Amino acid sequence: MDKRSPSQTKSSRVYGELRRDITAGAFRPGEHLVRRDLVKRYGVSISIVNEALGRLSGDGLVETTEMIGTRVVSLSEEGLRDEFALREAVERHVARVLTERATDKQLATLLEDARMLDRWMNELGHDDGQGSLLHLEFHLKLARTTGFASLEENLKRMSMRALLTTRWLKNLRLPHPEDFHQQLVQAFMRRDVVAADETMRAHLHYADEYQAKHAAGAVAASTS
Ligand SMILES: [Zn+2]
Repeated sequence: MDKRSPSQTKSSRVYGELRRDITAGAFRPGEHLVRRDLVKRYGVSISIVNEALGRLSGDGLVETTEMIGTRVVSLSEEGLRDEFALREAVERHVARVLTERATDKQLATLLEDARMLDRWMNELGHDDGQGSLLHLEFHLKLARTTGFASLEENLKRMSMRALLTTRWLKNLRLPHPEDFHQQLVQAFMRRDVVAADETMRAHLHYADEYQAKHAAGAVAASTS
């Protein structure tokens, strides 16, 4: 049974829908969110809209200033690079903690999740909106499995911000290994912290390293 009051339930629904619409690109980074338009769009009162925007602000997805009002956050490339450094630190720490402390049973569950995610991503492509959310959910589950709520919370905040910004920057369709995430969990299962850390590092840098290699190959080919 849901013990929350109807207004709490409504507020959670609007928060969820607005978050999905923002990350799906219905509102662009930097776009103004006009409260009276949101009231119409979601068919709720202004106080419910205010509550949802307050929660989204806590997630780092919108920002409100007195002069300008509420907007979808828009990170510069430098800002994104900067946040990525912290995101990488969190994810590599997650890899180390799981390698050292996760039970065999936890890792077996994660491997099963990874198998499903990889199958899904091979079908949908890695930049599909729905696929991006499933992908994010898997990385958050890794963080959650460490037992440290702060790792999950911070990763979620940073990943959502990156997701909504990068959606507009590039639309990549890189070929990924078919067992991209299974490789990660299998690295944790070998209980070698250094190797697990490197596997996560390579995972996070897959796209830029692939492109760098590709660009280098293209240059070599054109000069030969
Ligand atoms: Zn991944």
